[in-house]
Amino acid sequence: MTGPLNPDRPTGEFSLIDWIRRKTGVGRSTVLGIGDDCAILRPTRDSDWLVTTDMLMDGRHFRLDHDGPEAVGFKALGVNLSDIAAMAGVPVAAVVAVALPKAHAVELAQGIHAGMAPLAAQYGVDLVGGDTNAWDGPLVISITVLGETTARGAVRRSGAMPGDAIVVTGPLGGSLQGRHLRPQPRLLEALALHQAAPLHAMIDISDGLASDLGHILEESGGLGAILDADAIPIHPDARILSAVDSRSTLDHALNDGEDFELCVVVAPDDASRLIKAPPSPALVHRIGEIRAEPGLWLRTRDGQLIAINARGFDHLHE
Ligand code: ADP
Ligand code: MG
Repeated sequence: MTGPLNPDRPTGEFSLIDWIRRKTGVGRSTVLGIGDDCAILRPTRDSDWLVTTDMLMDGRHFRLDHDGPEAVGFKALGVNLSDIAAMAGVPVAAVVAVALPKAHAVELAQGIHAGMAPLAAQYGVDLVGGDTNAWDGPLVISITVLGETTARGAVRRSGAMPGDAIVVTGPLGGSLQGRHLRPQPRLLEALALHQAAPLHAMIDISDGLASDLGHILEESGGLGAILDADAIPIHPDARILSAVDSRSTLDHALNDGEDFELCVVVAPDDASRLIKAPPSPALVHRIGEIRAEPGLWLRTRDGQLIAINARGFDHLHE
């Protein structure tokens, strides 16, 4: 059987959307999901909306022929959820826009959906709409996620203060070994940390620790920071990469992108408390401190300060 007659083998845009719609549950905030011109959402509490979008392109953020459509779906949703985590929000709904290569467009869309669905279910995110296109170009997928703030409010990049401690939620570097395709959004970690202490500033590490911490410093009014070389947790993947290229493991941890751990700035006393009793499921590594003087420095074991040149990923400068 072909076409809309066989609901598990959609052949056109509308039967595909029907297929997606039948696989999609509707949660607490969704008044109306897929099927109309707009979705209708209703906040479940007295909160602010968080809105974020991220676009992924074949050949740039993934390689479809190598990674497959499920990985694309997982990553595309994961990176967006990571942005919600970075504001200490609760994700609510997602809309998914795809430009599908014409050949195998429907199978691709189903594969992407299969990769996305478990992550959406895990964090209670409703798929409430999207846009489906096919063309002769490569796969492009853009997801927009809406989230809500909790009673504690959103955590911005702009609240760091001199003397604050800088912590990260996990080991860094070497995500190109494959981890970059399976971003684990630190949503529960962010909420647990935000519950346990007032977080002054937060960002998810997508471009590299040095570069992303740089955004916090800039947004907080042009501050600086010192990172302790020995304190930065190194991911085993960074060691693997370091063994085959000429870069140090620390260079990988500072500058590799797509770790999707959180970089969090808190008062020094709160950092000590969080390290003594990390609020589950968050891991907490103290890596340095905020200073009033601008500039990012690495402090070696013998106390020497070395300027860090952020070389994180920048799409417009390569
Ligand atoms: P319109 O032309 O009015 O924008 P569409 O025909 O593009 O509507 O979409 C019909 C419905 O299907 C809308 O509710 C839209 O949000 C949803 N939709 C389209 N593509 C997708 C997709 N890839 N994933 C989820 N929902 C989708
Ligand atoms: Mg319309």
